Amino acid sequence: KSLKPRYRRILLKLSGEALGGQAGLGISPEAVHDMAQQIREVRELGVEVVIVIGGGNIFRGLAGSERGIERATGDYMGMLATVINSLALQDALEKLGVATRVQTAITMAQVAETFIRRRAVRHLEKGRVVIFGGGTGNPYFSTDTAAALRANEIGAEVILKATKVDGIYDSDPKKNSKAKRFNQISYLDALQKQLKVMDSTAFSLCMDNKMPIVVFDFFRPHNLKRVVLGENVGTLVTS
Ligand code: UDP
Repeated sequence: KSLKPRYRRILLKLSGEALGGQAGLGISPEAVHDMAQQIREVRELGVEVVIVIGGGNIFRGLAGSERGIERATGDYMGMLATVINSLALQDALEKLGVATRVQTAITMAQVAETFIRRRAVRHLEKGRVVIFGGGTGNPYFSTDTAAALRANEIGAEVILKATKVDGIYDSDPKKNSKAKRFNQISYLDALQKQLKVMDSTAFSLCMDNKMPIVVFDFFRPHNLKRVVLGENVGTLVTS
């Protein structure tokens, strides 16, 4: 079996919940360590890796606004949460000997670099993993949108969306034992069938720019590597 990666440069989208481990809340050092381990595996294949992290394990703007916090304020709180997560992942990666940089969409000079596209690309060329915190830097957006935006900007070949399920199904596999997984699906089919791959803003950005998305189960050991090696894991969304 050849170990030639299918992709040269990937963007990995991690939800905040993933860092929270089983409970999906707060930060579980074990969960973060496991993720870092998988990221190291693909770095060892020579793949350039960019990561966009969510913040749902700490705070979501929408949930805050339902409890009386102004939406935009809650969204800024959510963006700050993604920076906390970025630092946690950076720490775990560096402990495994993986060189990293964090860049944020909201300037925080004492904590991380500010997002500068050309600088991010340079880090990648030098073999560093670049973690983008702070989402897009704008309220009313999501970290999935940040993933779609950054993937296009830095020339990633694919967005690998880490989830707890091994791809996209025609119905909820938890409720329907006969639910069928798609190996591949087109953007239009996914829209027509109302399969919620990402929020509509993020999804449109991918579709309009023909950015492929792979939805896969990141909680299985070595699964990220398997996706990168082109094994039949998860669901590929493409035109
Ligand atoms: N957020 C935002 N703008 C962005 C990205 C994120 O306002 O560009 C806020 C928003 O409130 C969101 C929170 O940050 O609820 C956490 O991000 P997200 O919900 O995407 O995280 P995930 O669901 O991936 O954990």
